[in-house]
Amino acid sequence: MKTYSIIISMLIVLITQSAAQSVKRSEYEGAKPKYVFCFIGDGMGFSQISLTERYLKATDRKEPKLNWSEFPYHGYYTTHATNRVITASAAGGTALATGEKTSVNSIGVDASKTKPLLNVSELSQQHGMKVGIVTSVSLDNATPASFYAHQTSRSKYYEISLDLSKSGFNYFAGGGFKRPEGNDKKDEKNIDRNMGGLGSDKKVKGGQPNSLDVAKQRGYSIINTYDGFHNLKKGDDKLIVSAPQLAHAKSIAYGIDQGRYNEYISLADLTQKGIEVLDNKKGFFMMVEGGKIDWSCHANDAATTIKEVLELEKAVEVAFDFYKKHPKETLIIVCADHETGGLSMGSTTSGMASDFTLLQHQNVSYNEFKKIIQAYKEEHKDNYKFEDVLQLITKHFGLGEANKNLAFTDYDLKRLKDAFISSMFSEVKQESHDDHYRALYGYRDPITVTTCHIFAEKAGIDWTTFAHSANDVPVSAIGVGEELFNGYFDNSDIGKNLMFLIKK
Ligand SMILES: [Zn+2]
Repeated sequence: MKTYSIIISMLIVLITQSAAQSVKRSEYEGAKPKYVFCFIGDGMGFSQISLTERYLKATDRKEPKLNWSEFPYHGYYTTHATNRVITASAAGGTALATGEKTSVNSIGVDASKTKPLLNVSELSQQHGMKVGIVTSVSLDNATPASFYAHQTSRSKYYEISLDLSKSGFNYFAGGGFKRPEGNDKKDEKNIDRNMGGLGSDKKVKGGQPNSLDVAKQRGYSIINTYDGFHNLKKGDDKLIVSAPQLAHAKSIAYGIDQGRYNEYISLADLTQKGIEVLDNKKGFFMMVEGGKIDWSCHANDAATTIKEVLELEKAVEVAFDFYKKHPKETLIIVCADHETGGLSMGSTTSGMASDFTLLQHQNVSYNEFKKIIQAYKEEHKDNYKFEDVLQLITKHFGLGEANKNLAFTDYDLKRLKDAFISSMFSEVKQESHDDHYRALYGYRDPITVTTCHIFAEKAGIDWTTFAHSANDVPVSAIGVGEELFNGYFDNSDIGKNLMFLIKK
């Protein structure tokens, strides 16, 4: 009887302990964090995290867990928009930034697109804190924009870039701008090809002032050189930092491709500098987005995705080092806006076998590989050889090598041959491709997509979509207010929790 009651009381202690861990906002009695870091892995669901950890384990990293997996509190949440179950970065980012759900494509406005919504960055500024917005994609992209802009559509890049300097926030850092010179629909197609630099050189279009000039008039300094960035120091304020060498769509190059850039500035570098310039006695709020996890997942490129998650981890490490110096004043959360790609460990062709070490053989992103295929196409006009392309695939993915786990099967070769014909000889406009073609390749280069798919399957991975999924996503937290991020909730609760803590 005595043993029985001891067990019961132990159980009660255990139950109350675990219940105490999950704290609602109405029950929170803790302090207000002075330093708040909100890391967002765009498109980073459970699978992107667990695949990266499986990869780290398979390749013998000393600590195979991602640093945020060791945080004390973890939750997960739904991500739907008001008008669609499968959300995207604008509605997802707005929910995280404002605590309010909205419709797809809306940036910082309500679902009817009529009412601006206060976001956590503005609230932090009202409370005297400094604000930093950091991303690996263009600064006017949907996720960062959700933290400073109020626009009816994420495509209003020019208006968003004007909102950026209107915010008066202290530190913007990341890629460049897509349309600082104003709106012109005809330019839309060229955005992705417009490599490097902050934006177009055109100063004025249709009488609109260049939004970078507007930013300067509003007191911002624009820094887009390697030395200029590294020379920034404590006390520097109203900064717009754009990495000196940009990749497609004004983004920072993929982690896997960084060796190809001699002036590479990483997300971790931008985060470190953010701490330097933002640190002050009233504290700061900093949002840091790993924006290209989403992009590599759209491309169904598993190895590049892993490297992007690791780039985000390095940035989190910088914040974690800061946390260790200010544990009683700092909150770090690592979360996501949605999952991309419907990534899973396990594939129809590999069954229950897997070997994630194979992913080490890929040495360029899908995007660089696509360029390599394009260059081959230009050099060998009308004299394309399937064998040449197979050699390029072997060189950059290790596929087809003596390593029997990467050898081509007849089925692989058939798919690659079909893709080769589509990539090399099909001049048909994408829109006219049939459903089968779109299911196979999306709107992407057939050889590149098929190579990424075959490569992933060899490792034991598969993708269900070239778009986003409605899968729930995780959040991890450490520091002041961490207990609010424990349990199962909605993406808007992330924003509500952050705003609640800032208001305390
Ligand atoms: Zn996306």
